[in-house]
Amino acid sequence: MVDKSKIIEERDGMTGFEVREVGRVETVRKFVVIATGLPSCMNGQIVEFSSGTIGLVMGFTEEKVQILVLGDSSSIRGGDEVYNKGKSLNLPVSDNFLGRIVNALCQAQDGRGPIESREASPVFRVAPGVMDRVPVKDTLETGTLILDAIIPIAKGQRQLLIGDRLTGKTSVTLDAIINQKGSDVVCIYCCIGKPYSSLMKVLDILKDKDALDYTIIVTGVASVSTGEQYLAPYTACTLGEYFMNKGKDVLVVFDDLTKHAWIYRQICLLLERAPGREAYPGDIFYIHSQLMERAGYLKPELGSGSMTFLPIVEILQGDVTGYIPTNLISMTDGQLYFSSTLFNKGFKPAMDFGLSVSRIGNKAQWPAMKSLSKSLRLDYLQYKELLQMTQLRATGLSKEAEMRLKRGEAINQLIVQDKNKPVTIEEQIVFLYALSRGVLDSLSASQAKSFKQDIFDFVKKRYPEFSSEIRSGKEFTNEIKDKVEGVLKEYFKGAIK
Ligand code: ATP
Ligand code: MG
Repeated sequence: MVDKSKIIEERDGMTGFEVREVGRVETVRKFVVIATGLPSCMNGQIVEFSSGTIGLVMGFTEEKVQILVLGDSSSIRGGDEVYNKGKSLNLPVSDNFLGRIVNALCQAQDGRGPIESREASPVFRVAPGVMDRVPVKDTLETGTLILDAIIPIAKGQRQLLIGDRLTGKTSVTLDAIINQKGSDVVCIYCCIGKPYSSLMKVLDILKDKDALDYTIIVTGVASVSTGEQYLAPYTACTLGEYFMNKGKDVLVVFDDLTKHAWIYRQICLLLERAPGREAYPGDIFYIHSQLMERAGYLKPELGSGSMTFLPIVEILQGDVTGYIPTNLISMTDGQLYFSSTLFNKGFKPAMDFGLSVSRIGNKAQWPAMKSLSKSLRLDYLQYKELLQMTQLRATGLSKEAEMRLKRGEAINQLIVQDKNKPVTIEEQIVFLYALSRGVLDSLSASQAKSFKQDIFDFVKKRYPEFSSEIRSGKEFTNEIKDKVEGVLKEYFKGAIK
């Protein structure tokens, strides 16, 4: 029977009256509640149960309201009262969140006490409109050579990381966070549906590299309520927007959105919504695109802040044709494909160039980087093809083929990179110049390794202004080139002409 709604007025301290609409819980299905008697509630609003737990309105029919419990649902019973205060879900935001670990409701989880905040921001905010944005113009320095040189990411871009389990996806995003040290970029790592142990590993790495001070961790680990796991990416986005609106650059990592899609599927199946392709609800595309649209680069009148997204998607056996991966590929500005075959061969980061692309990143690349990495992708792909052919017929190679193989091998040595050791763009420029001069073609693997380790210190000693000169102009001028050339000649002690 439908519970007739009633409106009660309650004195709220000394401040005045608070209007509440009181409904009743009809059924509780795991983390979803069906209630009656809340005729004026709307999607995205919060309701409060008599036990004190809050819930998020996910949908309604003429008589019933579908509520997702944000917290412990075991204390909610059929017949309990549920209150609608007519408020949308707003979460506290402030600078004090930097360096803290919070749950999806922005409550501190690191045992360092509550986080002070004077502002609240709506969680389901509409993304900035076209007129509020400008085209991307700065590069986001990820510290991974393959990315910065071949598949560059711009500030404000959305770049999907897609790959099988254990292929180094999280490591690349952590490198990007570590590389922001000292650069005034606010980082947010949002963990969705992952085990607690994964989060602890991430925390250890960030702590070890002193990257926690400028990072906010939003946890929606698998052990918290499903409602909180669903909400976590929106919370991360809301915190990011606060900094973006203050004119800062923000980097948000969503680890990972496959789990988020699973969580939304669970919720919708419990709400008896018709399952569609792969049993996902029909509006999963809308849910993710609404989130992805919130990234961007704001116009100068709005402070020129930016928000870059690195969402991660896990796939099975390299299949990128699934529903969720194809959805996300279509709504991001490029993808990085992580191959388990490459990973097992020891090529790390295991990015497959053939399937990876950045659609807007090269517009913001430094001119110095652009000119030095122009033919890198093609050279490398040609090398790969040649390598396959020469495996069949190893003798009688032409001189040109041999040269290509050597150059390819040198590129290989350069782009294989250890985890948690980001390389600055200045360093990458020296590597790429050395490559273009052909001095790396004749090095053995161990020589190439020590070259990568030592060369930049050597350059800094002989040419201390190199970093500041190249960073201020972003161009590889003839003057800089001559100086770097001189340093390289000295390093190789006359072995190059
Ligand atoms: P999951 O599917 O569990 O989320 P993932 O794809 O995020 O995995 P990571 O956790 O980043 O992968 O990495 C998997 C393993 O590979 C880790 O043990 C990590 O230390 C190692 N690894 C990742 N990148 C590198 C690298 N560049 N060099 C050496 N080891 C690496
Ligand atoms: Mg991972």
